[in-house]
Amino acid sequence: MDNKKNIRVLILDDDKFMLEFVSQMLRELAIDEVFLAEDGKAGLWVLSNQTEPIDLLICDIEMPGMDGIEFLRNIANQKYSGKIVLFSGVETDLLKAAERLAIAHGLNIMGTLAKPVTLDSLAAVLEKLPLPIYKASDYSTQIRIFDVEEIKQALRNNQISVFFQPKVSALTRKVTSVECLARWRHAKYGYISPDNFISVIEQDNDLINDFTRNILRKSVRQLEVWLQQGIDLKISVNISMENLDRFNLPEIYQEIVWNSNVPTDRVILEITEGNLGKGFAQTLDILTRFRLKGFGLSIDDFGTGYASMETLKYMPFTELKIDRIFVHNASEDFATRVILESSIKLGKAFGLNVVVEGVETQADYELVAELACDEIQGYFVAKPMLPDEFIQWLSDYQ
Ligand code: C2E
Ligand code: CA
Ligand code: CA
Repeated sequence: MDNKKNIRVLILDDDKFMLEFVSQMLRELAIDEVFLAEDGKAGLWVLSNQTEPIDLLICDIEMPGMDGIEFLRNIANQKYSGKIVLFSGVETDLLKAAERLAIAHGLNIMGTLAKPVTLDSLAAVLEKLPLPIYKASDYSTQIRIFDVEEIKQALRNNQISVFFQPKVSALTRKVTSVECLARWRHAKYGYISPDNFISVIEQDNDLINDFTRNILRKSVRQLEVWLQQGIDLKISVNISMENLDRFNLPEIYQEIVWNSNVPTDRVILEITEGNLGKGFAQTLDILTRFRLKGFGLSIDDFGTGYASMETLKYMPFTELKIDRIFVHNASEDFATRVILESSIKLGKAFGLNVVVEGVETQADYELVAELACDEIQGYFVAKPMLPDEFIQWLSDYQ
């Protein structure tokens, strides 16, 4: 990995020998910036006194004073958004609970590192680190909240790009479609993930409507180019619940699609089920008319909302996307696997196209393929890419 030397790692362990041992190995792996902390307090101090973010935290759970669980809670409050690896010194079920708790706090757990740590196991962890995409919360002490005006300006100045992440067929392994993901090309911070600004946009009805139309238009135009080049794809575009505030939305989106040579049935709209409860009749009305016009409809992040079953029962969806929290480590974790397997069966029983997203490892990939979902998406297949990058990736993949 070329960017290895820029990775900044913090190791937290009460065992001094362990600290030295692991930091020595990291240096051998060409990581120059290694920070050490002997307890939670020191760890918090290190994290809050950085001008550059820490990319990876390797953390022990069992420590005197502030234990690992307390420490994770604290860094979640500080909005630490780097990756985390837990040392697996404690019993497996305890470690799993710690891992789940960290995920529940919104932390980015990458997995566990068995003691004794080896050079190979450390290298494997580092390989899994994605290329850095700036998250506003990286700067834990100076969280940057983008304001509406700044975002409007970005939209006017055409600074919002679309990245494309492939979905592949579980059966044939062929690329079937791409999810279109917004990125803000920021002059100072580089590409910014939508997690940092979508919620601000959603608070302004006109803005979220402009924004979604903009992304849909760009995505459809890109698909038109690919179809002309003979690349057989569909696209998935994310729609916010806040977009469903007007009855004529299906007509607005249909017009955007009709302005290109893209058949409407090549466009899937993804909606997060979490908020489907609001304005039930209006939502059902709009979603049904999307279907009548030929759009595919996908329940995004399935399993994370409180209304999953209601959504399945009443809304005319064509696809179900199982959230990554039910995928991450499913090959190792019994409970995750059971939920994953049941969700796939449930989706299939409803006749839906079942997509599993967030697949990061070969073991999870093989498991979901075996569980007979329809499509697979995740870093293990490919990360979201710009169009040129995607085409290059596609030709290598094929
Ligand atoms: P989402 O719809 O659940 O999109 C998938 C997110 O997971 C993307 O993050 C993607 O980069 C990331 N991802 C893909 N594969 C993996 C993996 O293997 N592991 C992990 N850990 N993550 C993976 P991204 O692009 O940062 O988008 C975040 C969220 O922002 C999206 O979540 C979606 O809810 C929202 N979003 C993105 N683009 C738009 C948009 O145009 N409009 C609206 N309304 N929301 C958008
Ligand atoms: Ca999505
Ligand atoms: Ca999702």
